[in-house]
Amino acid sequence: MPELPEVETVVGDLRPQLSGRFIRSVWLTRDRAVLGRILRYPKDPSAFGGRLRDRRLERVERRGKYIVMPLDRPLPDRAEERLVVHLGMTGHLRVFEPEEAVVKHTHLRIGLEGGLELRFDDPRQFGRLLLGTETELILAGVLPRLGPEPLAAELTADDFSRLVRGRRRAIKAALLDQSFLAGVGNIYADEACFEAGIRPGRRTDRLTLRERRALYGAIRDVLEKSILARGSSVINYVDGFGERGANQENLAVYGRAGEPCLRCGTPLRSTRLAGRTTVYCRRCQR
Ligand SMILES: [Zn+2]
Repeated sequence: MPELPEVETVVGDLRPQLSGRFIRSVWLTRDRAVLGRILRYPKDPSAFGGRLRDRRLERVERRGKYIVMPLDRPLPDRAEERLVVHLGMTGHLRVFEPEEAVVKHTHLRIGLEGGLELRFDDPRQFGRLLLGTETELILAGVLPRLGPEPLAAELTADDFSRLVRGRRRAIKAALLDQSFLAGVGNIYADEACFEAGIRPGRRTDRLTLRERRALYGAIRDVLEKSILARGSSVINYVDGFGERGANQENLAVYGRAGEPCLRCGTPLRSTRLAGRTTVYCRRCQR
């Protein structure tokens, strides 16, 4: 599933292609079952299309695992509306030339001025499409309140340490909780715990200050390393140009249950935490 580094890569790829472009046409799949799953707000396809048409995509940003595209304001005193896309497990958002073949499971096509098309495809349909002001989307219950960005300069090691200590639960559960920290998912939660030398099942309130600081550094480290490698291509992830990332080669524990630990050679263990498969080394992680 695309997490912070993958979404950051896609956003960086789309930004120069989309910023400042007018939306000329909107096509949504007619499949009601698919629409019911992915079109979260507004639920009515014609309302969704109507609110997008003839608007300008001002910017392309990332917040947590969400791709956020603010639109121009119809009136200066109106709050900024945004098109928000969550890639779910298998979603892709890419710009195509209009004559390029439409890939299977394409659910949204946005025709842009100058002819390019922004297309969203998602075979498993865990992706989400939202359109509205931030307040509107939060009030509608379709956009959760997100915690701080792990790579933001404002989030210091002390801030992180305080957040971690605030609630008692397994570290893995905390890292997956988007209202605690935005953008980390199963891949980077396991990788960060390995790099910090901490077992993912440890309770947040039992970590020492030194361990909390190590975890803070490890999270930033694994995310930054992955952004540099343009994300991890597990399942079907590709960037904004359809190319695979390279960070799957750097993963130390994710997807490697039973294989030898890269540091000590002990077979990596797999367990379930917070409902997710979790891989760790019982020797290197305490
Ligand atoms: Zn080990």
